[in-house]
Amino acid sequence: SVRVRIAPSPTGNLHIGTARTAVFNWLFARSQGGTFILRVEDTDLERSKSEYTQNIMDGLQWLGMTWDEEPVYQTQRMGLYQPKIQALLDQGLAYRAYETSEELNDMREKQKARSEAPRYNNQHRDLTPEQIAAFEAEGRQAVIRFKIDDDREITWNDMVRGPVNWKGRDLGGDMVIARASSSTEIGQPLYNFVVVVDDADMGITHVIRGEDHVGNTPKQILLYEAMGMPVPEFAHTPLILNEQGAKLSKRDGVTSISDFQAMGFTAEALANYMTLLGWSAPEAQELFTLDEAAKLFSFDRVNKAGAKFDWDKLDWINSQYLHAKSPEDLLELIAPYLKAAGYEFDGATDRDWLLKIAALAGPSLTRLKDCVELSRFFFTPTMDFSAAAVEQLKKDGVADAMQAVLDALKAHEGLTAASDAKGLINQVTKSLGVKKGLIMRSLRAALMADMQGPDLVDSWLILHQRGFDQGRLERAIS
Ligand code: GLU
Repeated sequence: SVRVRIAPSPTGNLHIGTARTAVFNWLFARSQGGTFILRVEDTDLERSKSEYTQNIMDGLQWLGMTWDEEPVYQTQRMGLYQPKIQALLDQGLAYRAYETSEELNDMREKQKARSEAPRYNNQHRDLTPEQIAAFEAEGRQAVIRFKIDDDREITWNDMVRGPVNWKGRDLGGDMVIARASSSTEIGQPLYNFVVVVDDADMGITHVIRGEDHVGNTPKQILLYEAMGMPVPEFAHTPLILNEQGAKLSKRDGVTSISDFQAMGFTAEALANYMTLLGWSAPEAQELFTLDEAAKLFSFDRVNKAGAKFDWDKLDWINSQYLHAKSPEDLLELIAPYLKAAGYEFDGATDRDWLLKIAALAGPSLTRLKDCVELSRFFFTPTMDFSAAAVEQLKKDGVADAMQAVLDALKAHEGLTAASDAKGLINQVTKSLGVKKGLIMRSLRAALMADMQGPDLVDSWLILHQRGFDQGRLERAIS
């Protein structure tokens, strides 16, 4: 049965590219009734940090991509690799190469001068015992290289890209599989080797990863074959590109899932959007949960071309999810943003009042963070009037009208329903003999300190519940 994995290196927070690769792995696993595994590639001890591992796990879980087995940590498997390297050495499929880094640089410089692509020229492949002894006597260290014959043809049928062919000669010469060490030891094994041993050991059937790894695949196929391990299927998913069409990178600003989260994208919307980065659903369906997408997912609908990151599309999807939420669900999502903005409220005693704010703000939200601006006037007793509001309040008769509203408000039992507020507006309109529009616009300016915003009557009721409306009317008149 299908077994796939996401194999992040914990050298940074969960990146959108890794998360999108995880999405495709997860969707494929779910669509095939397979198993999705997390492997933490933490062998780079200098750059790996446990907080990054935590961030990656939190991010995957937040997005809804749970893994089906205990996570695997490469650092806990170091014993696995060395015997396999030793076996390759014993079989003559790998050897120790003794060049110093100066010698390797020199080789590259000469190739450059001849306009050749840099490659290792395999010159230590067949050292005599005397040559080896001489290098050892000099105290040189050796890397371990795996032999790659120039004439080898490597072919696989990529689930995204179709048939892919490579020639051994284009792989840069015999490849280093273990770092330099003395000849009695085996140095730290490197990515291309470790990944093959791990994928084989974990019974991975399909390797689904970013297109940036496509050049590693022929090397890895040769290693599978040399070690007599079954070669998995491969899918190289398109890169995510920025607006300029270049690979999305840290320089593009927001790239980690926790950044997107902080900006107010919901997990469902972000997961939904990521499925569309390089894949399209039948009948151009654009909104679905991960579970729904899993039912529709197949690799023949994954594009070869890079996927442009489209903020407008992400915003649109996010707003669709937010607009469909109940006030209860919305309140849970926006409350942390309101708290972070310093707004004072009590989640329990103010719940009823907060739910009204959530219901009012909901249809205008694109990102959760928008709730901070949209609801500012409910949490701040006094607001600075916008230029347009000042303009409105200076108009002829407006001060008198607002005084009349204030008087009527004070005489009234209290506003609890929309009909109370509407009745009050009608009463003032009639008694002053002015146009209702004038009262409405002026009230908006007075209560909300701006000429735009959510529904006036609903907003007024919410303000009234806090007792902010009288003070605002008074300020508008003075
Ligand atoms: N640790 C590698 C990466 O994050 C994994 C690549 C692979 O999936 O083989 O790019």
